[in-house]
This record gives sequence, C-alpha cells and structure tokens, in this order.
Amino acid sequence: MSSIKSYHQKKILCAITGAVLVVVYCFFSSLGSGFSRYLAGFSSSIAAGYYPAYLLFMGMWMGIFKLVSLPLDFYSGFLLEHAYGLSRQSVFRWVWEHLKGLLVTLIIGAPLALAFAWCIRHFSDTWWVLSGALFFLFSIVLSSLAPVLIFPIFYKFKPLENKELENNLKAMARDCGVMVSHVFSFNLSKDTRKANAALAGMGKTRRIIISDTLLLTMTTDEITAVIAHELGHHGLNHILKSVLLGGIYIFAGLFAVSRAIELFLIHAHGFAGVSDPAAFPLIAFFLLLFGLVFTPANNYLSRRFESSADLYAKRILGKSDDLVSSLKKLGDMNMADPEPHPLVAWYSYSHPPQNKRIAALFGDTP
Ligand SMILES: [Zn+2]
Repeated sequence: MSSIKSYHQKKILCAITGAVLVVVYCFFSSLGSGFSRYLAGFSSSIAAGYYPAYLLFMGMWMGIFKLVSLPLDFYSGFLLEHAYGLSRQSVFRWVWEHLKGLLVTLIIGAPLALAFAWCIRHFSDTWWVLSGALFFLFSIVLSSLAPVLIFPIFYKFKPLENKELENNLKAMARDCGVMVSHVFSFNLSKDTRKANAALAGMGKTRRIIISDTLLLTMTTDEITAVIAHELGHHGLNHILKSVLLGGIYIFAGLFAVSRAIELFLIHAHGFAGVSDPAAFPLIAFFLLLFGLVFTPANNYLSRRFESSADLYAKRILGKSDDLVSSLKKLGDMNMADPEPHPLVAWYSYSHPPQNKRIAALFGDTP
C-alpha cells in the first residue's frame, strides 16, 4: 500500500473513532450512567446561581471529554503527522498550540454558552429560534473578525515581500469585483510542510492570506491561479450562499433537536426540563446526530462550489495549466489522496478529489 493510502486509512480510522467516542460520551454521560446529573449537582453545589453553575457544568463536561480524547488527538495530530513527515512541531509546541486553542475556545465559548443558557431557561419551547438567531449572527461576526483577532494568535502575518505579485493579486481581485485590503503571508511552516491559501474575512477585514510553504513551492503564476480559484468563491457568491445555507442548517438543526428532545420525553429520564444543565449532553447528542446525517449534503454542496470556482479561475486566467500544476503541488504537499474510495469522498470530502478536479479542468485524465 502506498504511504498516501496508508496515511489516509489511519486518518479515517481516527476520524471514525473520534466520532464514535463523542457520540457515545454525549449519550452515556446523560442517560444511564447518571454522570451528567452528578456533574450538574456538583456544579450547583460550588457555583452560586443558575448561570455560573451552567457554565461550570459545560466547562467540566467538555474538559473531561477533552482529556478522554487527548490520546487520540495526539496520535492523529502529532504522531501520525510526524510518521509521514508532514509535521514540524515539537511536543512542546503541539501542547502550546493546543493550550492556546483551548483558551480561545473558552473566551469565545463562555459568553455564547451563557446566552444559550439564557435562551433555553426563558423560552423552553422556542429556545431553538432565539439560540439559532444567536448562533447565526455569531457565525457571521466570527468569520468577519477571525482574520484580525484569532488567526494572529496562531500565526505571524506579514505583508507579501513580492510587491509585484501583491499588486497583481489585488488587481485581479478588483477585476472580479472583490475588494481586498491586504495580501499577507503567514508562517505555516513552523507547524507543517502542508500549504494553504485563502481569501479570509468579510468587508473591511477581507484579505488574501498565503502560507509561506505555498509561496516557497509555487511559481507566481501558480499562486495567482490558487487565488483566482478563491476569488471564484466570491465572484460566484459562494460566501453569501454559504452564510444563508449555514443559517438554514443552524435553524433546522436546532429545531430538529428541540423536537427530538420532546419526543425523547426528557422528563421521563429524570431531568428537570430542557434547561436542566444535566440535559445539555442530550442536546449535544442530537445535534451531533443531525450533523453526522447532514455531512454528506454539506460536502456535496461544497464540492459543487469548489468545481465551479475551478472553472471560474480557468475562465479569468484564460487557461488551466497553472491551476492544474498548483493543484498537483498542493496535493503533494498536503499528501492528498488523489483517488479516495468513492464512499469516503461522498461522505467526507469538501473538495472533489484531485484527479476529478484536474479532469474537469482539462477534460482528460491527468
Ligand atoms: Zn475553494
């Protein structure tokens, strides 16, 4: 078996194990074991008031899962990445990056959790509408502010040294009707030999970001082709469509969960109601199920967007060879599986497999 195939096989096994682990944890911590009831009782015994107790419960419940899943995270995110020569992180850096991630999650998650607790406490039947609106608005604000407030916590951003390339990329964006404030490179090489580029942010925070690994490996024409693809997402309104679809997804998910909770007769299992902190793992369980069931639909739409962004890039570049060679280089750097099992691609691939993308651009096989 090629190393690419064995890398992906192990990664898929880790993803399946992780999904099973979280589903089992949500289900059995809330039902049967009485664990969530014990944890909720413990929280309210040391935190005064409903909201501090809810927050403490969520923190402990999620913290325990983080500890339980730590060996799997370490194997998948550190050991496997090193075994296949992808990671450049030391153990210390891996731990440090994880701690930073946890801190950011805590700072962002705590106010969100409190707002969710407020919705669920005051609107026991329609909590899904209010919390849906809350999560929807939050997702928009986060995608707008993340490039300015969150990305710099993890990577150093600096203006592109190649000013000619920067001006060409900005001019191409203008021609596509997309205003871009800055073009930055970021030091992804500190962690991995993988590569990435994106058009991040919204409105005034919209910027082109290119990993140093990509800048070192690709020609300026290939980098331009990668960004042309990213511009395709904006030119074809994929961002707006994704935001709207995301909104529908959030509301539909929360509505389905609210009905499932009712059908499941939450009171029959000894919870004080949907606002009982001990019932939160059950809400998380149904949300997870909803997410797992609709993953293929989300990825199908995403693959459609990616294919049309490729064709958009081909159209504005007037040719496809630079895009094709950039896809091949990206595939090599990221150790992408060019021909995954169709079932794996159908369920979990947000981008069409490399061979299909190249075939669609060239109209032949690579
Ligand atoms: Zn894309």
